[in-house]
Amino acid sequence: MPPRQPQIEIVEMKKDSMTFILSKTDASIANALRRVMIAETPTMSIDLVEFENNTSVLHDEFIAHRLGLIPLTSSRVEKFNFTRECSCTDNCENCSVRFNLHVTCTDDTKQVTSDDLFSTDADVRPVHREDDSIVIVKLAKGQELKLTAIAKKGVGKEHAKWQPTCITTFQYDPDIRINQNIMDRLDEEKKVKFANSCPVKVFAYDKDTRTVSVEAASNCVYCQECKFYSNDIGHPDLVHVGYKPERYIFTVESSGSLEPQEIVLSALSILKTKLAHVHENLKNEVDF
Ligand code: SF4
Ligand SMILES: [Zn+2]
Repeated sequence: MPPRQPQIEIVEMKKDSMTFILSKTDASIANALRRVMIAETPTMSIDLVEFENNTSVLHDEFIAHRLGLIPLTSSRVEKFNFTRECSCTDNCENCSVRFNLHVTCTDDTKQVTSDDLFSTDADVRPVHREDDSIVIVKLAKGQELKLTAIAKKGVGKEHAKWQPTCITTFQYDPDIRINQNIMDRLDEEKKVKFANSCPVKVFAYDKDTRTVSVEAASNCVYCQECKFYSNDIGHPDLVHVGYKPERYIFTVESSGSLEPQEIVLSALSILKTKLAHVHENLKNEVDF
């Protein structure tokens, strides 16, 4: 049997999210891709913080945890080594990026935000800036926060702060079909009720032609409400709710550290490398 050639078809692309259809493969590969996107796609994140002075109301660990969760731009993450694989003994520029933060409050109050983190590498800086910046702590008059933070390359399976995604889901591509012979025999009230039985507006009723059609099959969440209504009115075959084999609708929402397409491409390349290792090891076993 010739190998299958999985395909990706982009449905929607936004700055922070994308929707695509993966086809010609099975659910195990779709799920492997989802898991690699979440847990094995590397990004940069703050991992070490040295406090020089902290007279704010939050203790050091609290602020260090907050700093770790600030998404950092990671499009150039491939230029860094993982610390565990780097030849240095103490966070060199090949495996880490240093940030400085020094804020003193001279007014009544002052917010310390991600804008106050100054990076030593232009490629790695907080994603959210200016109007969109993330608040780290609020200082009162006379309080000071002075620290050095070190960002490292990591993956989500070590700590969730390295996950590049907020949402990564896939579902089977719905296959919704109305039996028009049965539908034609229903009165207007039942047609309208059938169309309205779907909570996510998969069906549309056209008043002029008095017909019900499938308008947005991809909205289907397999709740079966349309089937329940069909059964209630004595027509269990009025609608078919199934899914198309080997077609999966993916939704990927980025934290901002990587663009959604970068997450998908990076995960595909990692998955390919993993499969190549399996293939190589299997070959060695067989040869042996
Ligand atoms: S299964 Fe639920 S979501 Fe899907 S078409 Fe029927 S009513 Fe709508
Ligand atoms: Zn190093």
